[in-house]
Amino acid sequence: MSDNCIFCKILKGEIPSAKIYEDELTYAFLDISGDFYGHTLVIPKKHCANVLECDPSTLQAVMETTQLVSKHYVDNCGFTGVNLFNNSGVSAEQSVMHLHFHIVPRSENDGYHISPINEGNKVDLSEVKAKLEVK
Ligand code: AMP
Ligand code: ZN
Repeated sequence: MSDNCIFCKILKGEIPSAKIYEDELTYAFLDISGDFYGHTLVIPKKHCANVLECDPSTLQAVMETTQLVSKHYVDNCGFTGVNLFNNSGVSAEQSVMHLHFHIVPRSENDGYHISPINEGNKVDLSEVKAKLEVK
């Protein structure tokens, strides 16, 4: 737990939240923004900042809950797909520094557009590969 973390405060019950699911290691609740119907956040109960800093077992637990809740939305709640995303780091526009995955449940013709529009491949992939390949 981290004293100044709003998601740790949610876990401690100091800030209210709309719980969707909970187990020993993780907690899922509705995002407060109301931007997308059913927008859900999945967090670990153990505080860690983001994907870049958490231990693999914590990330695994969060991903398993992300899958469980996503399948629940499709199997039991009338949705047909999900968008999943995570922001890790200030440059990636992370605003709450407690690891979380976003789930946006989707339906046909829901009017949402979340994936970036691909404007075409104007980059030299071999140059990018030379810089980015894990060696
Ligand atoms: P990110 O920009 O990836 O760090 O996302 C943080 C998310 O946390 C945003 O979508 C906020 O709407 C959401 N958020 C912030 N405070 C709360 C809160 N008290 N309860 C639920 N969601 C919150
Ligand atoms: Zn925290």
